[in-house]
Amino acid sequence: ESLASLVASRLRDIPDFPERGVVFKDFTPLLADHDALAAVVEDVVARFRGDVDVVVGIEARGFMIGAATAYALGVGFVPVRKAGKLPAATESANYALEYGHATIEIHSDAFTSGTRVLVMDDVLATGGTAAATCDLVERLGGVVAGVDVVVEIAALGGREALGARPLHALLQV
Ligand code: 5GP
Repeated sequence: ESLASLVASRLRDIPDFPERGVVFKDFTPLLADHDALAAVVEDVVARFRGDVDVVVGIEARGFMIGAATAYALGVGFVPVRKAGKLPAATESANYALEYGHATIEIHSDAFTSGTRVLVMDDVLATGGTAAATCDLVERLGGVVAGVDVVVEIAALGGREALGARPLHALLQV
């Protein structure tokens, strides 16, 4: 069984979540299945072992997949959180949503300049969240070695939003 088909079998579509008209990709079945979770993590590890110094995970599902991957890579984990959640001094980035805007933050002292960073999240949709995260990483002097997501919703143009940063998705829908 290919990794993409394994991942696809452990995702489910939830209609009208979080609001009417949206079909939400729920990856909790993938997290709950050790074999699927391990296969996802090992795929990332095989591509990045020795090439990154830290994993940055995006709240909240990027924490789950990102922390597991950081452990397996033998590197540390840094959270990017919604505004107001991180306790120490932060850098923040504001970005547009379909309706309104959002602000995310990273601790200003999360890593030193020149650190090689792997950014992780579950789903890439418009790419706004991941692009803002890359901006924060680069503001701290970090180098985005890659952006890894489990699922890329290709029609929403997230890949273009990331510009030249290397994006890898286990599954494209
Ligand atoms: P974007 O900024 O790319 O439009 O949205 C991506 C962010 O929203 C990610 O942090 C992701 O977790 C969340 N997201 C958007 N759509 C979905 C979805 O269908 N399923 C899941 N699990 N997360 C989503």
